[in-house]
Amino acid sequence: MEMKPEDLDIIKLLGEGAAGTVRKVLHKPTGLIMAKKTIGTDPNPKVQRQILRELSFQKTCNSSYIVSFYGAFLEDGDTTLSLCMEYCEAGSLEDIYKRARDLGGVIGEPVLGRIAESVCKGLVYLHSQRVIHRDIKPSNILVTRKGEIKLCDFGVSGELINSIAKTFTGTKYYMAPERIQGAPYAVQSDIWSLGLTLIEVSQNRPALPPPGQPQLSIIELLDLIVRQPVPVIQGSHISKECRNFVAVCLIKNPRDRPGPGRMLDHPFIRKWEDVPMDLAGWIKEVWNWK
Ligand code: ATP
Ligand code: MG
Repeated sequence: MEMKPEDLDIIKLLGEGAAGTVRKVLHKPTGLIMAKKTIGTDPNPKVQRQILRELSFQKTCNSSYIVSFYGAFLEDGDTTLSLCMEYCEAGSLEDIYKRARDLGGVIGEPVLGRIAESVCKGLVYLHSQRVIHRDIKPSNILVTRKGEIKLCDFGVSGELINSIAKTFTGTKYYMAPERIQGAPYAVQSDIWSLGLTLIEVSQNRPALPPPGQPQLSIIELLDLIVRQPVPVIQGSHISKECRNFVAVCLIKNPRDRPGPGRMLDHPFIRKWEDVPMDLAGWIKEVWNWK
């Protein structure tokens, strides 16, 4: 089905990022609730057509570890690009860990195990479609009402990546050392970002910069990622399998860092993959849903 701006009613604002704004919307013809992300776009019609063409590929993505994509269109006199995707009721892992922090809790290891497994399976799927995510971080991992964990905001459109990069001012905390040193993106770079994500979600604060040195310039931060010892996941509730998984994610040399397929064989994933977990119940508790 073709997505059209006039078919959508805005319900509420969900969040704002460096490049876009996300709103909860109703798609009137189908009655489906969706999330609509709007991004300011390159004014060149050729570039715009290329972006829309590249994005249309995402409609064919079909995995329970990937946020479904319904379609994209230009609006506001072709000044903004809107992307319509599956609405994930429980929000992002960033929303969830901040909520856990406000409630005085932390996300425990079993859930971390499920997050690691879901992200690796999502990355394996994307890789099978020749897509590298490029922006793994807690705000780009979403959770549904059922407790499913899914990836969003991945790099399907090279043209869109370029046009956002021109104006990009966001964080670079999650960038792998090889990227800082100018090497091309590879699946292993996403695994580095997964390591930092697991630390952040488990400790209720970003893994970098390390606590105690908050005011780093961007150059100092990039130097830290390339040259200083990597952060470790801490806490007496964390098993040695989990600690090792994160340490493997954060191997600095990309040639020694496994891709998502091999990470799925790690003892940390094995430890939790067959343990039944009521993630829907967990989410209900986190958001205090009836
Ligand atoms: P950045 O722009 O730095 O990457 P971000 O990922 O938080 O940050 P957006 O991708 O614009 O920025 O998303 C903003 C917020 O909107 C997210 O943090 C999340 O809370 C919410 N959000 C995004 N997509 C969805 C979705 N499909 N369903 C539900 N909530 C969503
Ligand atoms: Mg995002």
